[in-house]
Amino acid sequence: MTLPSFLDWVANPLLGALVGVLLLLQWRFPLRHQHFAVLRRLVRNYVMSIPGFVVVRLAMLPIPFAIAAWAEHRQVGLLNWLHLSKWLAIPAGFVILDYAYWWWHWANHMIPFFWRFHNVHHTDLDLDVTTAARFHFGEIFFSTAFLSIVLLIGGMCPFTFIVFFVVFEGAVAFHHSNWRLPIGLERVLNLVIVTPRMHGIHHSIVQRETNSNWGTVFCWWDKLHRTLRRDIPQDALTIGVAGYRDEHELTLGKLWALPFGKQREWRLPNGEEPDRVPRDVDELAE
Ligand SMILES: [Zn+2]
Repeated sequence: MTLPSFLDWVANPLLGALVGVLLLLQWRFPLRHQHFAVLRRLVRNYVMSIPGFVVVRLAMLPIPFAIAAWAEHRQVGLLNWLHLSKWLAIPAGFVILDYAYWWWHWANHMIPFFWRFHNVHHTDLDLDVTTAARFHFGEIFFSTAFLSIVLLIGGMCPFTFIVFFVVFEGAVAFHHSNWRLPIGLERVLNLVIVTPRMHGIHHSIVQRETNSNWGTVFCWWDKLHRTLRRDIPQDALTIGVAGYRDEHELTLGKLWALPFGKQREWRLPNGEEPDRVPRDVDELAE
């Protein structure tokens, strides 16, 4: 099976079905109270992401895939040099890719140039499965370059890359969703993977909370780097970026243009910097 036919006939229908199920679950069992019109956000987030989808399909998948195939053929990159068996190389490659993405997400917050683009994703004033699509095409373009470099150095095979990509997209849809899982179950899942409550804290209007929980698939990397934060109950969260609170300033054209204009400080329109006292608890708050 070729890459395009796998994407069009297997991966995309699967991910589409997952998004459909999550839309239903978050509607039936909502986690956070939504403040803005659900349908308008859905349309805006999906229309906003059309150029991004095009970049994913035409660049973010085929380019790194071709690089991984080239590296495998020439035996370039860490995992190729180690000559591991497939049974070890595939899971190892998957874990390394997820860890590399933790750093990429970190860079998107910490390097002002990249934040210009990633900011668009965080300006969503509510958080649900449609936020998972809300990425500026510029960010996806830079992600393509980043992924290509990681695959070249890491030497993951094309199969590992595609498996990672599908799981990664599924994980992004899941942890952005507004689906209220039973807290006991979510705490167990959150021993291993990033869950909706954990990622909800990453979308908080409090900057210290946004600058935490950078993981995509596994939650270990945040534990390792002491950036894991589980102490905020979801009903105490305000979602978004402090400087961008007005729905009318976050329309399609303005979102596409956002990275190219002057960036606002992390302050509310009244000049205040949102804050709260961190609690010293490790258990995922309800
Ligand atoms: Zn982020």
